[in-house]
Amino acid sequence: MTDKTDLSDGSFGFETRAIHAGQHPDPSTGAVVTPVYLTSTFVHSAPGEYAGYDYSRAGNPTRAAYEACVANLEGARFGFALASGCLGTTTAMHLLSQGDHVIACDDMYGGTYRLFETVFRRCGLDFSYVDMTDPAALEAALRPETRMVWLETPTNPLMKLIDIAAVAEIAHATGAQVMVDNTFMSPYFQRPIELGADLVLHSTTKYINGHSDLIGGVVITDDEDLAERLDFLNCSMGGIQSTFDTYLCLRSLKTLAIRMQAHADNAMAVARFLEAHPKVAGVAYPGLESHPQHELARRQASGFGGMVSVTLEGGLEAARKMMADVRVFTLAESLGGVESLIEHPGLMTHASLTPEKQAEVGITPGLLRLSVGIETQADLIEDLERALAGV
Ligand SMILES: *Cc1c(COP(=O)(O)O)cnc(C)c1O
Repeated sequence: MTDKTDLSDGSFGFETRAIHAGQHPDPSTGAVVTPVYLTSTFVHSAPGEYAGYDYSRAGNPTRAAYEACVANLEGARFGFALASGCLGTTTAMHLLSQGDHVIACDDMYGGTYRLFETVFRRCGLDFSYVDMTDPAALEAALRPETRMVWLETPTNPLMKLIDIAAVAEIAHATGAQVMVDNTFMSPYFQRPIELGADLVLHSTTKYINGHSDLIGGVVITDDEDLAERLDFLNCSMGGIQSTFDTYLCLRSLKTLAIRMQAHADNAMAVARFLEAHPKVAGVAYPGLESHPQHELARRQASGFGGMVSVTLEGGLEAARKMMADVRVFTLAESLGGVESLIEHPGLMTHASLTPEKQAEVGITPGLLRLSVGIETQADLIEDLERALAGV
């Protein structure tokens, strides 16, 4: 059997690495596609002697191929596949100890906020939330015991941007580590580790798997010490992603580049259409010249993603009518799948925030969030046009 060269090298392009990195023809059969190794345990030739794997919580060849591939796409060496994005956050938070302080951005995934406030605060971690679109606000919030700076960019659902390199510089000056939730952009458009971040999280439920058929998360780092500690935590806490689901994620990575291009093309067309519509009060999409941080979007990412937020002139009533009238867009939470979704942050994804907190971050009754899928662009526009005509 010919030994295939390793195509993980950075001299190969993103699309080539997405298809080949971490993967080799199966040594026992020659199968080109990495098999789904559905086994909990592996044979020992003598006590303690085995060929690389002994138990699937500690490691599994299918999961290992996927972890190597997804880490490679983020420009890093180590990836840890977990059962959900939230479990990725949970595992990474266990890098910290009682008394440590975390600074997080103030407009973040609601589930992450809930985890910090209701679970990790009880375990003795302290959290501050700042508007990191202004790096000076981060500087002011730093304390001697600050160990981690946590951010998402673009933020959810308002699509505000945070300058990853600027944050990393400020955080590193005091020895804090930077973790970026890169779910919205995927490594195809944005690679935080290359901009100075220490850790990257993805809810792979979203763009990385991209087909809305599983829940998963991954934590990625290029730091050997962090990787060793995450490996230990992952094995000890046992939050690993199932072998079958890692196979699905590995399969999905192969089309990540073309899916992201299609999401972004459609999102740009939808954003431009909405921006010009008389019943629309505002559109937040980093690709629009009207986005207040459009220059930063161009600088730190190679594209603008598939998420668009729109505010209707008619407020809640118009938003409800629009959600009822669309037929290509589906009314549902989540994002990043091939199908287009529409949702109301105030009533759905961000309903756990108090009305005051919603108002403070800018979640208004007329705000709708669109996850623009990869259906025929004209069908998406026509769907929105028809629904808007009735509001
Ligand atoms: C969905 C999501 C999460 C949580 O991931 P799960 O896979 O649902 O556990 C975290 N961050 C962002 C930005 C998300 O969209």
